[in-house]
Amino acid sequence: MSPASTTTGEAYGHAGVRLRERALTMAPATARQGYRALVGQVAEKARTILPTAVNGRIESAVKLVLQGDVELLDDGTIKVGSSDPTRYYHLIGQACTCTDFTQQKAPSGCCKHRIAAGIDKRVRELLAATPLPETAQPPRVIAS
Ligand SMILES: [Zn+2]
Repeated sequence: MSPASTTTGEAYGHAGVRLRERALTMAPATARQGYRALVGQVAEKARTILPTAVNGRIESAVKLVLQGDVELLDDGTIKVGSSDPTRYYHLIGQACTCTDFTQQKAPSGCCKHRIAAGIDKRVRELLAATPLPETAQPPRVIAS
């Protein structure tokens, strides 16, 4: 028995959260606030698009996104963390490995992991198109 409850969340340090980590490194508080606001906006839009029955799942999905628990893998699939730090789910195409999805409990197949992946994708698209002011600044000035 080993209580492995320490750094599971931080261990997901790959492609999916690279952009967010860079933003955090470059501008601590304000970029983080901007990121959170952006996630909130995307979630708000998701709320208007998705069936109302998924509602609680959107809040759960937002938490996963803010925790950096959405990780894009090199093979194009997506790994999403769970509220249980020792567990994660795997999105392949439109499918998720969680019971909410596989037992068809999620309305329209919208489990929180798929919603989280969708929010994360949209946020990254928005950041790529319009970076937060802080993240648009170069990390350092190289004097010649
Ligand atoms: Zn799921």
